[in-house]
Amino acid sequence: MTANFQVRLNRRDITSEEIAEDLRRVAAKLETQAITKIQYDEHGNFGATTVLRKLGSWNGALLKSGLEVANRQDISNDELFENIANVWTKIGRQPFGREVKGKSVGSLFSLATYEKRFGSWNKALLAFARYVELDSGAEESQQPSEPSRHLKVNMRRRTPRDVNWRLRAKVLIKHSCICQMCGDSPAKNPNTILHVDHILAWANGGETVEENLQTLCEKCNIGKSDQLLPDQRLLT
Ligand SMILES: [Zn+2]
Repeated sequence: MTANFQVRLNRRDITSEEIAEDLRRVAAKLETQAITKIQYDEHGNFGATTVLRKLGSWNGALLKSGLEVANRQDISNDELFENIANVWTKIGRQPFGREVKGKSVGSLFSLATYEKRFGSWNKALLAFARYVELDSGAEESQQPSEPSRHLKVNMRRRTPRDVNWRLRAKVLIKHSCICQMCGDSPAKNPNTILHVDHILAWANGGETVEENLQTLCEKCNIGKSDQLLPDQRLLT
């Protein structure tokens, strides 16, 4: 058995996870989320043919590796906008185009994807702003609650407890991603985790609307519930 043959035998033992890891490594190296077969052949450890043999299809391999599918045609604007909101929140300020490409900011899509769809990064941001502004309250139920003498009926909700991502983005951006109690922000301190919090707790009748939502860092939000009585804490 030649050494060469031995190597080929070993290569048949490559696991899918090894390949996925190598795809992610190459993607990080090339600073892209959607690597092509040609790029992988040039920079990868295994070669595109091996990837296809182990994982079936190129796009399937990218998906299994948590990468963006190359030339994916069906990415919705909604997905693209939600991704902007996530990156914006993660870094605590409006992202520059060059920042929207890496896993480090949790971005699923590359700058090129935005440029292709909207013409430029600035145009993508403008479209995002309109999208978030227009529809953040769209999930509100249209049923007006009737005034009632009974507390139980007053406690009926017009809005769901969960803050949808558009409303969350709107509130965070309005507050410049700064905790309204202590002033902390991911822009100053990357470890800061921001919450969008009901000012009047949802369980106490507070609605999930912009006016009743505030931006708090995790520390302040937990501190806030610590100040309440134990049985109130359960309600927030
Ligand atoms: Zn805070």
